[in-house]
Amino acid sequence: MVLFESNAIFQKLPPGERARIRAATEERSFTSGQVIFKEGDAGDGICVIKSGLVEISVLVGSEGERKIFAQEGPGALFGEMAMVDDQPRSASAIAREETVVYFIPREALLKAMGRSPEFMGRLMRGITQRLREFNHQYVDEVLQAERLALVGRFTRSIIHDLKNPLNIIGIAADMAASETATPEMRQNGRDRIRKQINRISALVNEVVEFTRGRSSTFVLAPVEFDRLVKQAIHELGREMEINSVVMEMENDPPGVKVPANPDRLLRVFHNLCGNAAEAMAGGGKIRFGFKLENNHVITTVTDTGPGISPEVADNLFTAFVTHGKPNGTGLGLSICRRIIEDHRGQITAHNTPEGGAQFVFTLPVMGSR
Ligand code: ADP
Repeated sequence: MVLFESNAIFQKLPPGERARIRAATEERSFTSGQVIFKEGDAGDGICVIKSGLVEISVLVGSEGERKIFAQEGPGALFGEMAMVDDQPRSASAIAREETVVYFIPREALLKAMGRSPEFMGRLMRGITQRLREFNHQYVDEVLQAERLALVGRFTRSIIHDLKNPLNIIGIAADMAASETATPEMRQNGRDRIRKQINRISALVNEVVEFTRGRSSTFVLAPVEFDRLVKQAIHELGREMEINSVVMEMENDPPGVKVPANPDRLLRVFHNLCGNAAEAMAGGGKIRFGFKLENNHVITTVTDTGPGISPEVADNLFTAFVTHGKPNGTGLGLSICRRIIEDHRGQITAHNTPEGGAQFVFTLPVMGSR
């Protein structure tokens, strides 16, 4: 059991002021489970707990779920928000044990605040502190819920993407191992298994890249941009050829150095060209263009495919956004964006007047050779 003065806000009050507040204060008793006030009640005063335990909760969400924000014991103050803005209560207070509170009417407090700026300051500090605590708690919970939702989506997406190739591998292995299998059937089974293993390994790479997160220890070293582009085109040659895709340069990449992590930048070329090849099922063309502008090198990757569908155009670079692909993970472009932003550049996409997709990314330049 405590006196109302035990709350820090009322300490150091001049004795006369304290006596006046005490005279206006009334004690109210509640049984366990009894509502002290609820949402919508008049905010006619504040309470300091004399003894017992009080739970503060608010209604959240469209379902009207009750969320407990705090449990307070003797000496704690509650109900102060409505007292300041003279609005109805926005939370409920329920006694969780036999509880006695000091109820201090709004009028008495307003008068004391008028007479003592110091008291007003202390009350305001107390309220701000409480708001901050609620804010932190709320942000933490929202973040945690979002993280869990993301992990759930991520796991579902990966499991979904692994099931299909694993099924094919199972069937192909049975076929290749059957006693009646001909050498062609064995070869066919082997090819199918190899293809699915490549698919799984591409998926695993995407997941590893995606979960790597934005790294603050990410090191950028001077890299010759033209060499990097040539390496990318060389590496992509075979894959594009298989897909009947021709790669063309509109102009030579500039001989400048960019601060880069080459392996990761190469990945951007791989992802963009891989997507373009997938979009151009019967083959087509990918054109690379380069421009130097405002100390940045601007690269455009343009294809002759059907262009980006309006369904995904607005959130193309968001993780898990995929459209029109049975095996899409929706991670490729979000990884591209992260890599380009880690290189202090920007990436955008749109469709060309001819109808194909065009991706544009910028990279800061270190200085011409
Ligand atoms: P995924 O390729 O696994 O679906 P991405 O993040 O790489 O994931 O791409 C997201 C979506 O953007 C694709 O599903 C596709 O609909 C669209 N897209 C990407 N590149 C192109 C392109 N070159 N042409 C048309 N659509 C594209």
